[in-house]
Amino acid sequence: MVELLTHSRIAMRQTCPTKERLWYVERLRPREVSWALSIGTAWHTGLEVWQRGEADEDGAVAAGLATLDWIRPENDEEAYKLQLERIRTEVMIRFAIRHFKPRRLVAVEKQFEIPILNPATGRKSRKFRLSGKIDALCEDEDGNLWILENKTTASIEQFKQSYGMSQQLTLYVYAASRVFGRPIAGSVVRALQKSRMEPKHRNGEQVETWEDFRDRLLTEYEANPDKYLSEDEVVRTEEQIRQFENELWLETQERLWQAKTGITRHNTANCHQYGGCPFLPICLNVEGARESMFYLSTQQHDELSLNETA
Ligand code: SF4
Repeated sequence: MVELLTHSRIAMRQTCPTKERLWYVERLRPREVSWALSIGTAWHTGLEVWQRGEADEDGAVAAGLATLDWIRPENDEEAYKLQLERIRTEVMIRFAIRHFKPRRLVAVEKQFEIPILNPATGRKSRKFRLSGKIDALCEDEDGNLWILENKTTASIEQFKQSYGMSQQLTLYVYAASRVFGRPIAGSVVRALQKSRMEPKHRNGEQVETWEDFRDRLLTEYEANPDKYLSEDEVVRTEEQIRQFENELWLETQERLWQAKTGITRHNTANCHQYGGCPFLPICLNVEGARESMFYLSTQQHDELSLNETA
């Protein structure tokens, strides 16, 4: 059976091969709500319907927030968190639609699936194909084709530091040039910074209505567009593309070797990064953890379904 390799899947294996196996092969998903994934989906959905011309600003907000409707808060804390994230997401979608530069779009949510080639021989991998979904592609006034990526980030300044080595941008430039059969000028990265603002509280009680908070948050964004929004052009050299193609082939060979040995490595340096790996109870063999803390996903690649997260 041919397996699809996406940026998210490759990146997860770089983080920890066991994590990638549990997520993509065993299809285990934590039962706990992943706010980052949920908000990313809402954000992308809102911008997608707007970029397709299917909705105006209000329609885009409604489409984005509808993706959060499945979340059923189990206590007051979760209900507060959900309402807070709904408003933050709404404000980000509205602000993006009002301030992103208009682009001449040639494709929206472009999904691709292409053979992975051995750079030395041109031979196709029989086991793996490269896949993904690009937010959009646009043309500049000279007819050059660009990848268009819409991102949210905790810090625009820190996010910009990732441009140079971003595997996702390299992979999309490489894949799009093969899909369209023409060079890709680079990537336009549109980023919006998330706000940490919350409704006003006094003595532990919320004293600002959600409507007033939404207005205050939007005012904060509108007053500081340079702080909250950036649009940058990121390019890749031929050498970077060649290096990526070599590493992509190596990725396939490492996976074949891993399957042959039947051994999946644990990257224990990652277990406690970024708030901790959700699969830690499984790796620690906590009794009953697999059944009580995880569910079996019907899909292998969430990133290829509705939306890929930022
Ligand atoms: S807990 Fe550690 S070893 Fe286990 S999947 Fe997560 S990162 Fe890998």
